[in-house]
Amino acid sequence: MNDFRFSCLHCNSTSVYMESDPRVSWEKDKILRCYICGWSLYGKDAVEDAIKKQYDAHQKLVAEEAAKEAAKKAVATLPTDWEELHIMKQESRKRQGLCAHLGCDKPPKSNSMYCSRKCCVKNAHYKERKRKENAVLRTSSKAA
Ligand SMILES: [Zn+2]
Ligand SMILES: [Zn+2]
Repeated sequence: MNDFRFSCLHCNSTSVYMESDPRVSWEKDKILRCYICGWSLYGKDAVEDAIKKQYDAHQKLVAEEAAKEAAKKAVATLPTDWEELHIMKQESRKRQGLCAHLGCDKPPKSNSMYCSRKCCVKNAHYKERKRKENAVLRTSSKAA
């Protein structure tokens, strides 16, 4: 992916070669020519400029592609399932020393994730409701 090949500014072909013209002075001694369309670029500076510009653009593209790939992977590793998400939220509450029922700010009992039986039941009800909601969503998206 990171291999850079200069391509013709005219036809985009990579069949571009570099040659020297013995008739011009050494500091202008570079010519880019395209086999395909006959496009040519004269002069050392112009040639080096064109190559550098295209190389930079290529590097930027490579970096962007890599960033996009990384972002895609990051999204792919995020839980999409609400139940997984719910467990993650509960885990983080546990780490903060909070009752695992979302929305309760009391500390949990030492032998439980919850501060009380009430919160445990509330959480169970919440999960049941979400499960039903999701079942409805799934069937309606299937119908659509
Ligand atoms: Zn060309
Ligand atoms: Zn609670």
